[in-house]
Amino acid sequence: MAILKIDNLHARVEGKAILKGVSLTIRGGETHAIMGPNGTGKSTLASVIMGHPRYEVTEGSITLDGADVLDMSTDERARAGLFLAMQSPSEVPGVTNSDFMRAAVNATRDDADKLSLFKFIRTYEGAIQDLKMAADVPHRYLNEGFSGGEKKRNEILQMKMLKPHIAILDEIDSGLDVDALKVVGQNVTQMKNEQLGLLLITHYQRLLDYISADYVHVMMQGRIVKSGSTELMIKIDEQGYDWIKQELGIKDERVISEPDERMILGTCATKEALEKP
Ligand code: ADP
Ligand code: MG
Repeated sequence: MAILKIDNLHARVEGKAILKGVSLTIRGGETHAIMGPNGTGKSTLASVIMGHPRYEVTEGSITLDGADVLDMSTDERARAGLFLAMQSPSEVPGVTNSDFMRAAVNATRDDADKLSLFKFIRTYEGAIQDLKMAADVPHRYLNEGFSGGEKKRNEILQMKMLKPHIAILDEIDSGLDVDALKVVGQNVTQMKNEQLGLLLITHYQRLLDYISADYVHVMMQGRIVKSGSTELMIKIDEQGYDWIKQELGIKDERVISEPDERMILGTCATKEALEKP
């Protein structure tokens, strides 16, 4: 059973501290949901786990089954069993979905164990049917011209093919209609039953109607400030985040705090706006 351990993780982007001490342990078969206001660092956490080069880890550790994840390149992380379904998947014109997928699947396998073209096609077509996607998906360029929902489904298709041990799904529910959410939920739940560990980043309790979560965490200002069960998410759905801020005495961050930043803004903001508190 896989164990992903994140301990006291601090990370910066463009010199700005975003993650300020995130600790979280995910075991195979467990589902953890993370929610939180926009801009609190949820996608940053996902990027840091996968090793996006723009994010600099300044403190803390991430291990997968005891191995130092921060020491691995992104492709090593993927081969070790980590997977990220991105919030905004990229379009790659010129590369077909099937070429991309076959290269990715074979990259996780030893030379002696590469999938034959025939076996790959059979598996890929089966997975496409499971996700109720169009039959021409393999021949189209990667995500090019896909709707938001089709891109999200394509991420789950990749996950099904790659069979990771721990997967992070970043707002997989955004852009999906109810029918698509149901299909995605069924496919993800099937993988959960096969001991996939999940980190679900979401704003809505609706996703948990389709993928049940064992733990719900609230992230604010780069930290996990509260953890609980699905009831916590239901309460946030109904009441928002203000009660948590009040309960924990969390103050709103000032967007502009440094005098230097005000000077930079001065070139494009009016004097009057700058003088407002
Ligand atoms: P969330 O997913 O919780 O909405 P993000 O992790 O996307 O939040 O962003 C957290 C903060 O980090 C935001 O203030 C965002 O503007 C900033 N940020 C994230 N990525 C970058 C980047 N590549 N360059 C500059 N700022 C970034
Ligand atoms: Mg995000």
